[in-house]
Amino acid sequence: MSIQHLIRPTIKALKPYSSARDEFKGLKDNLIFLDANENPFENGVNRYPDPQQQRLKLLLSEMKNVQPEQILLGNGSDEVLDLLIRMFCEPNQDNIIILPPTYGMYEVLADINAVKTIKVNLSASSFQPQLSDILERANEYSKILFLCSPNNPTGNSFEASTIESLLRTFKGIIVIDEAYIDFSNKESWLSQLHNFPNLVITQTLSKAYGMAGIRLGMCFASTEIISTLNKIKAPYNINELTQKKALEGLRKHSALKEQIASILTERSTLAEALDHLPYVEKIFPTDANFIMAKVDDANQRYQQLIEKGVVIRNRTSQPLCENCLRFTIGTNEENRRLVQILKTL
Ligand SMILES: *Cc1c(COP(=O)(O)O)cnc(C)c1O
Repeated sequence: MSIQHLIRPTIKALKPYSSARDEFKGLKDNLIFLDANENPFENGVNRYPDPQQQRLKLLLSEMKNVQPEQILLGNGSDEVLDLLIRMFCEPNQDNIIILPPTYGMYEVLADINAVKTIKVNLSASSFQPQLSDILERANEYSKILFLCSPNNPTGNSFEASTIESLLRTFKGIIVIDEAYIDFSNKESWLSQLHNFPNLVITQTLSKAYGMAGIRLGMCFASTEIISTLNKIKAPYNINELTQKKALEGLRKHSALKEQIASILTERSTLAEALDHLPYVEKIFPTDANFIMAKVDDANQRYQQLIEKGVVIRNRTSQPLCENCLRFTIGTNEENRRLVQILKTL
């Protein structure tokens, strides 16, 4: 499968802006840089950041076992998702396919870009993609199918066999959003990149890695797709502070492992506690750092919790999520408080 015909003609023809730091990449010491109109007095951030984030990509390429040329970094995965839509979808013509209930940004980003969204609900029984429905609803203008696995807000992962069938039969790009993959015992699709030219995987430092504040999203795909995304991204989209902090944070493997282990322990404890509450009707299986639960009256329980000082997410208005609440897993202390309060409602 070639992906060239999926790229917007405007983007294919685009001659990208060439920044000062793009044009001169020499790494020799003691050079005098008078090419970017920067203030020459050193303060740690007076220079433009590396537009290709080479040090960060090198570290990520070792961690994730992909080539640096297969990585694009964004200001959060939200920027990456936006770039993907802009690369493949012609405004007022093309569409994306999403599988509700799912992450709300796909549709918002499509709307901003005047791209239509086709919605094919997950199965009501187990929140799995419905292969034949998706293929039936797709048309020649369906450029991207977004699969969020583990899915937000339901928490479950999609069956590998279903994803593989989609990768083989869907005629556009498949983006697997793996924002929650580090909480899951299922394997990432990264190892499959070389098998599927239409596969794009996004991950983020915002969830398991504990760096939502620095805004760093990752996109992994073929060098063909990544080089085109590089043409359309803003030249200095990842700022210097973010690059530094990400390098620092990514090196703290063991602390991170401990945090994830703690979150998973707390997740079991909270699931157990929710199970014993008379007004909780169902707890859905989760591979993420949150639990979705169906209660008697989501609006009422949500308000009661706010009055007691706990903010969760009310998902009752989402398709298939009537009376469902989403609880993010906090620290042991936070969860103990939460459970205490839940018992008083
Ligand atoms: C939180 C989340 C993201 C992360 O977005 P960032 O912009 O990287 O913070 C992406 N996808 C899903 C499904 C999420 O829930």
